Amino acid sequence: MRPLQFSLSSIPEKGLTVDVCLSEADLRPEGVAGLDVQYIKVAGLLEEIGGKYLFRGTVTGAYRRACDRCLVVMERTFATSVLWAFEEGVPESPWGKYDRDADHEPQTETSDSSIGYFTGDELDMSPLAWEEVVLAMPAKCLCRDDCAGLCPNCGANLNEEHCGCSDRENAEDSRNNQFAQLLKIFPDIHPGMSSKEE
Ligand SMILES: [Zn+2]
Ligand SMILES: [Zn+2]
Repeated sequence: MRPLQFSLSSIPEKGLTVDVCLSEADLRPEGVAGLDVQYIKVAGLLEEIGGKYLFRGTVTGAYRRACDRCLVVMERTFATSVLWAFEEGVPESPWGKYDRDADHEPQTETSDSSIGYFTGDELDMSPLAWEEVVLAMPAKCLCRDDCAGLCPNCGANLNEEHCGCSDRENAEDSRNNQFAQLLKIFPDIHPGMSSKEE
């Protein structure tokens, strides 16, 4: 049994309290790229309502992610409230819903993104939990809003040091500008001419 697989006959009438801490590998579908997630916790109440099952709770966890600008790796936490309904039936594949969603814009599928399935006596929350973790990963990630990033020239982390490249560049730019000005006045001069004459 996967950590988030439950036997329906073991669910008491007042519902089953779920409090499971698991690793990313416990949830990740086969063949799917891994996420740098330290832990995932699923907590809440699973109960039967009219032949269907409803889970109300939270998915929390922590992940590591490199800043998009300076590449410094930081650890962040996430916490999402979830409401999952489970219907009897078989998805197209064990991870059918997840596979289908991958082909679409996530927004178009949000209406049934919280529907799971159970068959026989077995209910597996893993696909929905995994989806929640994937959605919790930000598309963009900055260590701070005003992260200065890396120097494109020397790679220095500009949050931590002033490498001076931009100063040198500016100085060079202004020299080039001065030369451009000179060219307008003396179209025949070439770079290096003055050094030859010296
Ligand atoms: Zn940064
Ligand atoms: Zn630099």
